[in-house]
Amino acid sequence: MAAASPCDPVHTLPRNVVIKTEPEEALLISKQDVPVKREPDVPLVSPVCGLQPLAWSQDHRLAVCTNNSLSLMELVCDVHSSNQELTLHRTSIPVPTEAYKLRVGPSAELLQATEKFTTHPDPTVRQLFLADAVMNPSAVVQKGIKYSSWSPLGCDSSGRCLLACLTFDHRLTVHNSHKRLEWNVLVDLTKKYSERLKERGYSKKDNKPPQENLLDFDELQRRYRMQTPLRMEWSSVYTIKQAQPDNTCIDVEMVLLAVLMENGDLVLWKFVLPFTNGADVVFYDIVESGVTRPSDLAWWEYESSDRRMSGLIIGSEVGPVKIMPVSLSGVKGYFTLRHPVILWKECDEIAVENIKCVPMVHPIQKSRCSLIVASRGCYVFWCLLMISPAGLNVHNSHVAGLHSLPVVSLAVSQQGVAVYTCSIDGWIKKLTPTFTENTLIFKQEDMLRPENLTGRRIHGIAVSYNGAFIALASTQGMVGGFHPLNRTYHVHLVTLKTPETAAELLLQSPTQNLYKMADLLNLVRWQILKNKCIPASLLEELDRKIQEVDSPYLWRLKLFLVRILYQSLQTPPTDHRWKPTHEESKVFVRDEEEEDETDEKDPAQEEGEPEEVKHEANPEEQKAEVQAWINAVESHLMREHMKKVLGVVYLNTWVAQNTSIPTCGLVEYLSKDENDRDSEVLIGHIKNKMNKQTFLERCSLCQAVVPFTEYKQATCENGHMWLRCVLSHQACQTLTFRRCLLLDTIARLPEPEDPEWIKKILQAPCTLCDSPMI
Ligand SMILES: [Zn+2]
Ligand SMILES: [Zn+2]
Repeated sequence: MAAASPCDPVHTLPRNVVIKTEPEEALLISKQDVPVKREPDVPLVSPVCGLQPLAWSQDHRLAVCTNNSLSLMELVCDVHSSNQELTLHRTSIPVPTEAYKLRVGPSAELLQATEKFTTHPDPTVRQLFLADAVMNPSAVVQKGIKYSSWSPLGCDSSGRCLLACLTFDHRLTVHNSHKRLEWNVLVDLTKKYSERLKERGYSKKDNKPPQENLLDFDELQRRYRMQTPLRMEWSSVYTIKQAQPDNTCIDVEMVLLAVLMENGDLVLWKFVLPFTNGADVVFYDIVESGVTRPSDLAWWEYESSDRRMSGLIIGSEVGPVKIMPVSLSGVKGYFTLRHPVILWKECDEIAVENIKCVPMVHPIQKSRCSLIVASRGCYVFWCLLMISPAGLNVHNSHVAGLHSLPVVSLAVSQQGVAVYTCSIDGWIKKLTPTFTENTLIFKQEDMLRPENLTGRRIHGIAVSYNGAFIALASTQGMVGGFHPLNRTYHVHLVTLKTPETAAELLLQSPTQNLYKMADLLNLVRWQILKNKCIPASLLEELDRKIQEVDSPYLWRLKLFLVRILYQSLQTPPTDHRWKPTHEESKVFVRDEEEEDETDEKDPAQEEGEPEEVKHEANPEEQKAEVQAWINAVESHLMREHMKKVLGVVYLNTWVAQNTSIPTCGLVEYLSKDENDRDSEVLIGHIKNKMNKQTFLERCSLCQAVVPFTEYKQATCENGHMWLRCVLSHQACQTLTFRRCLLLDTIARLPEPEDPEWIKKILQAPCTLCDSPMI
């Protein structure tokens, strides 16, 4: 039966075969992660709408589909404010006002067809035509954003995500963000596909011209449905070889956008990265899935040692779920599925929605597998796909008894895999998969609802990239037994992890990129601001790790912690400074406590730490100490980066060539520290190669020499001041430059005359915080 499932783990399986998914992470998660609602609540101007209204990107931006715009909020790890509330930057993409019309053939013929079917004597034909939202856009009452989808990180020119956006009038566009507030439309894919279809005479994949014209009802319907997008999903980033004019091959990155059409066709578009120009999008392939009444789409991406496979999971409103093979010729180590894989074949009229696919490692069989989950009415459908030498294994079942109303939204946290489901009455359940020898069972928990969220109607949920937050879009439920006349819509952010768990995950991060961890970082930030100290255990562990492996990531994490500590010492501006204060004694007591803590925690003295982090009663002194600490960590990071840049300079310069990087300045700056063996060796090599050239930087206003005295700014002898680029260490002598997302550094824009290797240096993220330069 459709809904039969091993929903109750305790009774269906003997205890001794249960093995935790990922033992270490599971341990971490079990530490009482009580959800806490964080401020602020974000009010929305217009009602939430769409298929899955919330989408959270890998670069920590949340998209919310509403009736008049796609509302966007970016979660920023603010290092310049002592406010404990979350910092959210809000932007929006408005819904275009003019209605969109799909083209299906010559307009005269269409006019004739419209007339024929609106006045058709047979009511079954007439009604079908008049009520069809695609053929008769005037029948659609709903306006707004139907669906949005974020590309993986690193797709646009500044290394961030692209955003695909589909409106209820079937306009599918791809956007990128420009600077902080602006969104640009890069390409209109509905229009582009419509043009392609017109050129090909609205033929199917086999390229045979259609037999009938628009006056045939089925043909008219077919031509509309073949170009009406239902949903779209981005693949992950693939590397392909591209031949150059001189017959050499270079590695190029690309991403595919799969668009599911109403007739079940899958249209694939190829975006070569970084994607900047809308005209560069290429039609890649069309897959005719043959799924009737398709409802949802997700990528299936499988990777095991050197074997990779991709496919598209399609669900239907009628019930079945299957994977269609996607042929990716030219991608290294890639295999194509020979046939579609049926995941669920019963046509039981329960629609498949919210399909999600998570790569996992089977802890018993030690092999990679894919977990596919989807909502089907009140049930959660799951399917475990394993590939063994014997072939493909599919285990599937349903989890029943979770909700009494249909599941409206389903979100998956990939960090210590957990599935969150939510029904419209606001109940959120957490499902944790646990492997057994042959199958999978789900531990079910009710997610505690923060107080002021009970009784609210929930339209959608989404989990942040590392599972630190869950976002909920909600509106009032029944008020005094009645439905409220006017509804307001809000987005709430609720924590899923404690700051302690977040800290542990940050320390173990395999990505070594602070920006990718920003949601977890936000939890730690909150804790430091609340307690006005860095958790001793975190600092200890971090210092121990730095001793072990001296990675820039760990130093950046340290810099972040110290910067937030500094902010926590700022007196909030709301304090009335003129008022006499009677709280001095209290402050003193608290500071003494902290002093004890800090005395215990840093016996280790090393570079980047002040002599002693004593928290004396004088807040100004304390701040000065923390500032000194910040400077020490910052200059460590900068020195390491300078060495990296000099290494690149060494590899790329020839004796007679002038380089615009202030090489001599960097060499002198680095040689000030006599204990740095690495830089001594490097400097020796560079000096040999430079052969007494000095590569002086000159001021563009007065031609005077700009000396290299510090890494933040440069001043010429006539007092002209320039900021230094954090990536190339050059003085930025132009009016335009980029700033990092956290606004702590600036970077030069690459100039056309810059050699490739300098352009490459300028592509890097911020040296101090890993966030993109925009
Ligand atoms: Zn000057
Ligand atoms: Zn930065």
